[in-house]
Amino acid sequence: MRCYQINEFGGSVEPADIELLPVTGSSVRLKVIAAGVCHSDVHICEGHYDLGGGRKISFAERIKFPRTLGHEVSGEVVEVGPDVEGVAVGDVCLVCSWIGCGECEQCAQGLENLCVNPRFVGVNRDGGFAEFVDVPDPRYLIDLGQLDPIAAAPMVCSGLTTFSALKKFGPLEGRRPIVVVGAGGLGLIAIAVARMLGSVGVVVVELDAAKREAALAAGALAAIAPGESALEDIRQAVGGPVWAVLDLVGSGSTAKLAVDALDKTGKLVVVGLFGGAIDLPVPTFPLKVLTIQGSYTGSPAELREFVALAREKGLPAAPLDKRPLSAAPAALADLKAGRVIGRVVLQP
Ligand SMILES: [Zn+2]
Ligand SMILES: [Zn+2]
Repeated sequence: MRCYQINEFGGSVEPADIELLPVTGSSVRLKVIAAGVCHSDVHICEGHYDLGGGRKISFAERIKFPRTLGHEVSGEVVEVGPDVEGVAVGDVCLVCSWIGCGECEQCAQGLENLCVNPRFVGVNRDGGFAEFVDVPDPRYLIDLGQLDPIAAAPMVCSGLTTFSALKKFGPLEGRRPIVVVGAGGLGLIAIAVARMLGSVGVVVVELDAAKREAALAAGALAAIAPGESALEDIRQAVGGPVWAVLDLVGSGSTAKLAVDALDKTGKLVVVGLFGGAIDLPVPTFPLKVLTIQGSYTGSPAELREFVALAREKGLPAAPLDKRPLSAAPAALADLKAGRVIGRVVLQP
């Protein structure tokens, strides 16, 4: 089959034709319908996450070459192993890429996305930039029902990341708007997902004027430029004390802005990995009853919950840029250069 793989860090994906192995045990083979291209694919090609200040998180120990990328995958089941139950040929499913080792403390709690020895699809095992993808167990497949499998693919990473982060604020219904810092791809999805979760809406803080426009077009209640009057502007747009800030940028300055903006009992959830540090007086924690929490993708159970919610309320609306599988290298280059609006999905 045709697939797109990385063979070294510092390069891009390259086409390869590889032989399909027999489907055994509890494995399931899907014909890929769509595979979203994520910013972390760019980072995987580079071989590291840049944390700022010269610090990096390397992928070197986690990834063996050649590796087929693609962790936002939907597909149709075409073959099942002899031990497979509950999934049949013809089913159209979303692949939960966050597969853990099944043995560590995190996996024992169902938090396979936080596994210390992960087997993530498209990262630690071959993914969906291919005609077919193999999943080791049917419990990592989620039936899409009537949902569009192409538009649903980005739910696995970008959608789930915002869903899991927003859930960390507790119930959103009946509360004031949430402040979202950063209106890139994740920010636009966060606006839609917050609404799915019953929020009255989102107030966006974003440096770039064009992205502020995009946030307003996507339904943000307000879009504020970080500057001298930002704290007052945020409080005014929220209509009272700021109780929830979701930082999708994750820099020293955005985290500081968030902490300064939060009122008593406020909570900051950090998703972004831009890098940097904050200098925070420790008494701020008790005096503000402040909570700061990180969030990293989401668990398989959260992805099931997210898909169930989408089947009830519709998919979170976000612009799609559909391209053929052969456009994988160009899509990664465009993403790296900031030339992509919305989400690129590859269709083999
Ligand atoms: Zn991703
Ligand atoms: Zn584990």
